[in-house]
Amino acid sequence: MDAQPNSPEARDIRYHLHAYTNARKHQETGPLVIEKGDGIYVEDAAGNRYIEAMAGLWSVAVGFSEPRLVEAAARQMAKLPFYHSFSSRSHSPLIDLAEKLVLMAPVPMSKAFFTNSGSEANDTAIKMIWYRSNALGQPQRKKIIARKRGYHGVTIAAASLTGLPSNQTSFDLPIANVLHTASPHYWREALPGESEEQFSTRLAGELEQLILAEGPETVAAFFGEPVMGAGGVVVPPAGYWEKIQAVLAKYDILLVADEVICGFGRTGAMFGCQTYGIKPDIIVMSKQISSSYLPISALLINDRVFEPIADESNRIGTFGHGFTGGGHPVAAAVALENLNLIEERDLVGNARRVGAHMQERLRRLAVHPLVGEVRGVGLIAAIELVADKAAKAPWGSVGALGGLVNGLLQDNGVITRNMGDALAFCPPLIITEKQVDLLMQAVEQALDAAAKQVA
Ligand code: PLP
Repeated sequence: MDAQPNSPEARDIRYHLHAYTNARKHQETGPLVIEKGDGIYVEDAAGNRYIEAMAGLWSVAVGFSEPRLVEAAARQMAKLPFYHSFSSRSHSPLIDLAEKLVLMAPVPMSKAFFTNSGSEANDTAIKMIWYRSNALGQPQRKKIIARKRGYHGVTIAAASLTGLPSNQTSFDLPIANVLHTASPHYWREALPGESEEQFSTRLAGELEQLILAEGPETVAAFFGEPVMGAGGVVVPPAGYWEKIQAVLAKYDILLVADEVICGFGRTGAMFGCQTYGIKPDIIVMSKQISSSYLPISALLINDRVFEPIADESNRIGTFGHGFTGGGHPVAAAVALENLNLIEERDLVGNARRVGAHMQERLRRLAVHPLVGEVRGVGLIAAIELVADKAAKAPWGSVGALGGLVNGLLQDNGVITRNMGDALAFCPPLIITEKQVDLLMQAVEQALDAAAKQVA
């Protein structure tokens, strides 16, 4: 990288260790410095505009320049810039948001608990589940099952749930008592001739075998995203959630739906649980809850979870868990206004309508020589890039083609993200059909340009 010694790029290299980045390579390539955003667009320091086709990190539902969120933050900052929820203290934004979330939940829920990130919320869910098992006099019931390619975050317990090698290798993870069952990616994992239903039946059978091998009385909970996001946008195959839930119910195992990406409209319904008929005991939410304008996350728990926790906290004297910033008043006020906007502007309906258009446009790309699979629902999708369609084989090493197309798109004013060779699309929920067409034009051009290099 050729930058002036005191340019933002040079100072970034000098002083900043990046999340999810090859730290050595970054010293050569430097950062993309984003300075501002409006609607579905962001702009870099040199004035180049990009369609933010990932809504930041799957998160900016209302777009990048929503004045009502700025005003909500300023109002709350002026009135009460901080308070907390320890020792029975409370404040209005937290009470209003807890009520709103419990009442909008896709299944009957009892209480909301507030955290600051998806990872913290998943760690909290595990702690609640262990606490509950102890409360119920079942101290042996501590094992948690998650899925290969699932993503639940990066703190020690959440990264243990995550089923991706780069989150565990050299971090000495996963911790004990976290198990992984198969990824539900039909296109990649199905046996020859197996239908989607048959594939789902086999996966539910494998889950049951795992539970039986471990001892059902030792398994406390199953964690899953309705649609896997960071694992490459894996949409569940036909019958999957119904069959998985039947197994969990048989052995009295709690279900945690990680709605951190799917929640608040992404799949074309308010929650991914509604799209797939999932009836969880705990729902984990973040990202689109505040359009990520401020960090906030939440768990909803039903009475099966709350009642034993209440008893145990009474026995011990306190529920000894909570974060200084959990349910922060400014973040809660922004989340409330953001949820109001999602409802007022029918962004869930927009995700359904414009999402159908995006899915249709993407599916037209299935004939392209570099496209192995197109998958998605609502306004979340991925195309799986391959060099050899029949063999489903990559171009050289896994991720080389994904990185190439991702780079070509960035050069042409589109920010996407490749997870290996899965190129993801998750634009702000405000996107219009016309803007989807612009995005798709850029994708087609990038694929054609890549095809020339691959040939
Ligand atoms: N769960 C899911 C489904 C996610 O996609 C993410 C982040 O991408 C997380 C949890 C972790 O959230 P955070 O990065 O806020 O810790």
